[in-house]
Amino acid sequence: MFQKILIANRGEIALRILRACREMGIRVVAVHSSADSDAMHVRLADESVCIGPALSRESYLNMQAILSAADVCGVDAIHPGVGFLSENAAFAEMVEEHGMTFIGPTPEHIRLMGDKITAKVTALELGIPVVPGSDGALDPEGDIDSLADRIGYPVLIKAAAGGGGKGMKVAQRAAELDEALRIARTEAKACFGNDEVYMEKYLGHPRHIEMQVIADSYGNVVHLGERDCSLQRRHQKIWEEAPSPAISSEVRKKLGDVVVKAIKKLGYRGVGTIEFLYEDGEFYFIEMNTRLQVEHPITEMITGIDLVAEQIRVAAGLPLSFRQSDVRFKGHAIECRINAEDAETFMPSPGTIQDYLTPGGYGVRVDSPMYQGYQIPPHYDSLIAKLIVYGDTREECLKRARRALHEYVITGINTLLPLHRELAEAGDVVKGEYDIHWLEKWLALKVMKEAA
Ligand code: ADP
Repeated sequence: MFQKILIANRGEIALRILRACREMGIRVVAVHSSADSDAMHVRLADESVCIGPALSRESYLNMQAILSAADVCGVDAIHPGVGFLSENAAFAEMVEEHGMTFIGPTPEHIRLMGDKITAKVTALELGIPVVPGSDGALDPEGDIDSLADRIGYPVLIKAAAGGGGKGMKVAQRAAELDEALRIARTEAKACFGNDEVYMEKYLGHPRHIEMQVIADSYGNVVHLGERDCSLQRRHQKIWEEAPSPAISSEVRKKLGDVVVKAIKKLGYRGVGTIEFLYEDGEFYFIEMNTRLQVEHPITEMITGIDLVAEQIRVAAGLPLSFRQSDVRFKGHAIECRINAEDAETFMPSPGTIQDYLTPGGYGVRVDSPMYQGYQIPPHYDSLIAKLIVYGDTREECLKRARRALHEYVITGINTLLPLHRELAEAGDVVKGEYDIHWLEKWLALKVMKEAA
């Protein structure tokens, strides 16, 4: 087992990884930007190194600086967390070249799944159904209009290198196609330095269902069930639950078997998530994330498996400590993403936290590095806390979510707490009847009602 791990990340996920390391008796090196000197994961780490100024490009994305810190501190492994360098194959390669372990899959698998076009081709080869669309990247000189006609409107233009909902544009009808292509390409170029795009049928009422898998280096692959992440705004997840209110245990088993077979065939190692759109009883692959997901805690709550600890174990070359038949799904879990944003306008709201009181009690978990007096820097992702609640049934879980959301006090900045309080009472959410478009429609309706 590793003696010392460097966490190449910040915020709640850095803290989450630090907690797993502590419990495993592994020493932790935190790296941070100059804007994060007071961050909780830095305070709690055994050692910390400032790797650059606030700008991510010069700190959390600065591979040389991170590797130097790792060398100086003599770490055995680097955990990339989520975002930043977690899906950067070149970084994974460099870590290994420096004689350390990258806590994640092989660079080849990261590369294969990092390009969404090759990921879709691979999924098809592995026997996983995909969203109907273009065979590969769209040729700017090709007959894109005819292709869109064949696929059928509305169509979605997506960036090959996409992530975080960026570089995605819908064309409802032929007249909108050129504009959608132009915007998607421009955004893709700006965000990912790659303007390659592809086309998919834009599904009208799917749910976002993703399967968690974990694999060791000995060919053992286990799925840990699905998460329903359909409550989204601008293709970004806001509220997640496990299990999905729309999936029966038979469907779960069927999808799980398909996914496990595919991941075995791929020879994959580490944690991974296969994302699907689920509409009218059919699953369509959209992408695979070759890393930990922000919403992993809800899977932990219903399986009793510490995913981060298990991820570290398989990276250290240990076999999985459980088999598929050992995995039991019990109860229900919901995660509310608390972003430092205005709950109505969604404008980011960095600043100083004045009062901070977290909810507690049975079945309540808060993954957050916040504390009273903490200054949220304006440079990073707005996610400041995850409220995770567990209940024996979905109904109990929802009641607990309402109770915990009302206990949670954060002042000094705006947060999404008021939005979550409303969502937890909303009729369709209570019934579990929502698709990926539901939240945006509900928000639009709310604005109209308030204006009237
Ligand atoms: P990213 O990597 O940017 O997150 P994804 O491919 O995972 O992009 O898609 C993010 C979200 O966008 C999905 O969860 C879904 O809500 C929406 N989406 C993606 N593809 C489609 C599609 N073909 N039809 C309708 N919605 C889609």
